[in-house]
Amino acid sequence: TTTIQFKNIHKSYRVGGRDIPALSGIDLTINPGEIFGMIGHSGAGKSTLVRLINLLERPTGGELLIDGADITRFDNDALRALRRRIGMIFQHFNLLSSKTVADNVAFPLRLAGKKSRAETDARVAELLARVGLSEHASKYPSQLSGGQKQRVGIARALATEPKILLCDEATSALDPQTTQSVLRLLAEINRELGLTIVLITHEMDVIRTICDRVAVLDGGKVVEHGPVADVFLHP
Ligand code: ADP
Ligand code: ADP
Repeated sequence: TTTIQFKNIHKSYRVGGRDIPALSGIDLTINPGEIFGMIGHSGAGKSTLVRLINLLERPTGGELLIDGADITRFDNDALRALRRRIGMIFQHFNLLSSKTVADNVAFPLRLAGKKSRAETDARVAELLARVGLSEHASKYPSQLSGGQKQRVGIARALATEPKILLCDEATSALDPQTTQSVLRLLAEINRELGLTIVLITHEMDVIRTICDRVAVLDGGKVVEHGPVADVFLHP
């Protein structure tokens, strides 16, 4: 389990020679093992904030501590190790269409290059069982429903046994019923594996269904944060 601390984090993007602020002065602590939601309108800075956690984006100021270590100072080796500890799932799943379900899930393990073929196969089988897709191992993504594709995304994200799972609008392309079943799976993973989950959404219902705490972002700032029941008193 893992603590994530943002300390006075700033991020601006350089656009046409000008620095455009996307996040200004974020102070936030995400506790070990919790499901933390980030909600806000499009452009509020949610995606940027979450992409800082695995340094897909770099902050322009401030400190970002994971278990007390400032990851903005990590060298390349430390960064590679950090990224293995962080899984991510996406709105549009980002599966490789020319690879089978099993090969998509095996992909991060093959990249890490630490497991034998037999170990990889066993791990993939275990992951597919966990997400309920054992019967679909040799299918291609185009043969799956949206909910099934996201389950493949989740299995792939878990392949390297991360301590943190980042979810960027992971249910936004799914219908309400499929959304609920994917959220149930995420809650189960949180509970059984003790993963810290950071979840971005623009849907209040998603926050209410599974988050412990929430931050509301607006214009690159956290305008409110706390336990879900305190922040959203009125349904
Ligand atoms: P959200 O996820 O809440 O929709 P984003 O983090 O995607 O918000 O965007 C925050 C702000 O940063 C927006 O104004 C957006 O246009 C800008 N932005 C995001 N990514 C980039 C980028 N790669 N280059 C330039 N500006 C960006
Ligand atoms: P135990 O229940 O024996 O303490 P764990 O709970 O650590 O063992 O692991 C149970 C199974 O879940 C193992 O097969 C392990 O590979 C898998 N697992 C553990 N942690 C993670 C993780 N963070 N992501 C994905 N899979 C995990």
